Amino acid sequence: MSPPENKISPLKNPVTSLWGVGAERAAQLARLEIFTVEDLLLHRPKRYEDRRHFRKISELTKDEPFTARGKIVALGLKRFRGGNKSVFEIILDDGLARLHCRWWNLPFMENYFAMGDEVFVFGKLKETKPRTMDHPETEVIEGGEESFIHINRIAPIYPLTEGLPQRWLRGLIWRTLEKFESQIVEPKPAPDLKFFPTRANAVRMIHFPEEMTDVEIARRRLALDEFVALQLQIQSRRKNFEARTKALPCGGDNRLMKPFLMRLGFKLSDAQTKVLREIRHDMSSEHPMRRLLQGDVGSGKTAVAACSALMAIESGFNVALMAPTEILAEQHYRNFVKWFEPLGVKVLLQTGSRKTASDEWRVASDKQTAISSLVTRHLSLTIGTHALLTGGFDLPKLGLVIIDEQHKFGVAQREQLVRKGNYPHLLVMTATPIPRTLGLTLYGDLDVSTIEEMPAGRGKIKTFVRTTDKLPKVIEFIRENISGGRQAYVVYPRVEDSGAKELKAVTVEFETLKKLLAPFRVGLLHGRLNGAEKENVMAGFRANKIHVLLSTSLIEVGVDVPNATIMLIENAESFGLAQLHQLRGRIGRGAHESFCILISDAKNAEARDRLKILEETNDGFKIAEADLKLRGPGELLGHEQSGLAKFRFGNLAEDLDLIRQAQEIAREISTAVEHELNGKTCAWNYCERD
Ligand code: ADP
Ligand code: MG
Repeated sequence: MSPPENKISPLKNPVTSLWGVGAERAAQLARLEIFTVEDLLLHRPKRYEDRRHFRKISELTKDEPFTARGKIVALGLKRFRGGNKSVFEIILDDGLARLHCRWWNLPFMENYFAMGDEVFVFGKLKETKPRTMDHPETEVIEGGEESFIHINRIAPIYPLTEGLPQRWLRGLIWRTLEKFESQIVEPKPAPDLKFFPTRANAVRMIHFPEEMTDVEIARRRLALDEFVALQLQIQSRRKNFEARTKALPCGGDNRLMKPFLMRLGFKLSDAQTKVLREIRHDMSSEHPMRRLLQGDVGSGKTAVAACSALMAIESGFNVALMAPTEILAEQHYRNFVKWFEPLGVKVLLQTGSRKTASDEWRVASDKQTAISSLVTRHLSLTIGTHALLTGGFDLPKLGLVIIDEQHKFGVAQREQLVRKGNYPHLLVMTATPIPRTLGLTLYGDLDVSTIEEMPAGRGKIKTFVRTTDKLPKVIEFIRENISGGRQAYVVYPRVEDSGAKELKAVTVEFETLKKLLAPFRVGLLHGRLNGAEKENVMAGFRANKIHVLLSTSLIEVGVDVPNATIMLIENAESFGLAQLHQLRGRIGRGAHESFCILISDAKNAEARDRLKILEETNDGFKIAEADLKLRGPGELLGHEQSGLAKFRFGNLAEDLDLIRQAQEIAREISTAVEHELNGKTCAWNYCERD
């Protein structure tokens, strides 16, 4: 049964409408982002305890946490250091052995326990003689008519917030389920979900599974609902967009492309040619292109961007290219001037610190007008950073927008730039290979092209993980390579925009490195330098006047100096894998063999295993997938990334099959019931986007 149309579901009522939830509890729930009855029913347990079977206290170990139960046979609070410090301790007995549980400096714990209480305790041993746990999770077993909710079953353990008791929340969820289960209806329009439980069953099973295997079955159903909801959003947005817009004809006629390719100095690889064919098809079709171009670092995306730009320019339109850093914008500017000016195409630069190098530009007093008038008179390519987005900056006859290293920008910025024109074509490029799951969710509204192979004739990159005590040898190795004419990067793990203290650390590092490498010359690059200073250092490095470049992760994206063959990264464990792969992509760009050395003293095995992945593979996709699994999508894509949907149940690292299925279902639904999608009657709203 579905609820009457147009009537708001009681699941949308605030939690305060529930019996026993007053202002104080509501405030606590709000901290867990639980505002409505539905939020409460979708509050996902963080783990489960099978309270039908217990470990004996004597079987507890130091390695893995388990649940045990016992009776309090002794308890007491001890204060020391003049009463400033304290330890509260209870001793549990299960008839065979005893367990000491301690809480340091939390004297109020005393209030929660009494002699003779039966207690569930979850944790791992800190000491074995006597058996001791510090700060375990506990729950006092109470009798009474509701006790069946908590004992002799698989009990959900929820994320909590201060002052909110586990037992109270579990009771509330149980009672709420009893009352509202019949209101949890299949979303309409309803697809055929043969192999899944109903939504109502899934909600019950996620809280009170009968067997542990129920949990995953339930999670998959609830995750599917989230993914379908997101795919519907993505598809309807794309449909709306296509209905509203007509594409500018930008297919080109090759009159600039031919001479460009002749002079380029290399032949496009088959992979580049294939991608260009897809782009040309889009740019001459009915709807504006919305395409994501992905290709591993060094796969030659810039040349593809150049050819795409020429197609638009040949067709009589201007082009804008946005890059995430000034260094990269400058580098593109230099390349594109070299490539395009002989063809009679103006190339302009617009960054925070430097405006275009054109003479006409330099003498103009009103720079904005100057750019606009230049752009009007010549066909042009304007290259820039975020500065392209600011102010009333206007790009007339904009046919194509290219965004390099898309992952450094948010979805909002992408849209902002596109809105500058009359629905220009959009090409976004990224070197962070996007695992399929993310591609389908984050970039679901984009078509994807992939450059699958590297240009021929690249030197190999070898990667090593080493500890700090090997540094002298590594430095010796660098000296040898510089003597042979090569160059090196040394990356120091500081985040951009960090404070003065970090800046000092980099400067100290710089002095040390200079001494170690003398008489070779070392340059320093970090985010606090102004544009001209940065460009100065980069120019020195490009010209091989600076042999070693010490940098923060600023050089992560795009920088192209083929003579550099060594990448030394300090404290490598503090970077994500995808980011390390990006950094490594700065080398191996010429014909020489290259070496990436990751320095790490990380003690834990996990960090070391993580770095080993880089030793083992150069495949950006494998690395991105590993990174996604280890650190989650937010980290993989960078904190700048917005527009990533939040899921309660969906797991972007694992659920590729569900996401694919959701895409299919969404397609079915949206063709079947067009009008319901945009209207409020669509019940698929289980996910939120930032
Ligand atoms: P990315 O995809 O990381 O942006 P770039 O576009 O910077 O890579 O290209 C890396 C290097 O490869 C550049 O020096 C570029 O000139 C060169 N390159 C690009 N395409 C080819 C090709 N087909 N053959 C040989 N070299 C190429
Ligand atoms: Mg690039």
